Amino acid sequence: MTGNRTLTIIKPDAFESGKAGQILALLEQEGFRILAARVLHLSRAQAEEFYAVHRERPFYGSLVQFMTSGRCMPLVLERDAAVATLRRVIGATDPAEAAEGTVRRLHAESKERNAIHASDSDENAEREARFFFAEADIG
Ligand code: GDP
Repeated sequence: MTGNRTLTIIKPDAFESGKAGQILALLEQEGFRILAARVLHLSRAQAEEFYAVHRERPFYGSLVQFMTSGRCMPLVLERDAAVATLRRVIGATDPAEAAEGTVRRLHAESKERNAIHASDSDENAEREARFFFAEADIG
């Protein structure tokens, strides 16, 4: 992983309602290249570990339940300034506050069921990519 890579997840709300293609098209239009992709149904233990930083938040249990409610699609993406650019492209956590044209404005249902995850730092991008992918998967 370099500073030009980030980790995204098309969340179960968007994946299960058939939005993966539209979201990937938008990401590619924004200049991201797909380096690695998976489709998986997270176990409770995996979701709890991935979101461990939010363990004390009131929405943690609900978030874990949502993230294990169906399949999701983690991807490693590459472009310059990947982390900052993807955060801009996905929009604010709450779709009601997300800018026009962002993934969450276009596809999110609510602040929790908000279509997509994106790493918020290079350090977390590295850690989160490792969570889903082996070095050889990313290349
Ligand atoms: P993100 O970086 O924009 O994804 O937001 P956070 O890291 O703060 O939160 C992680 C995820 O938890 C969000 O993407 C939402 O799915 C969920 N979440 C965040 N805040 C809330 C909230 O206030 N209520 C509920 N129900 N879910 C939330």
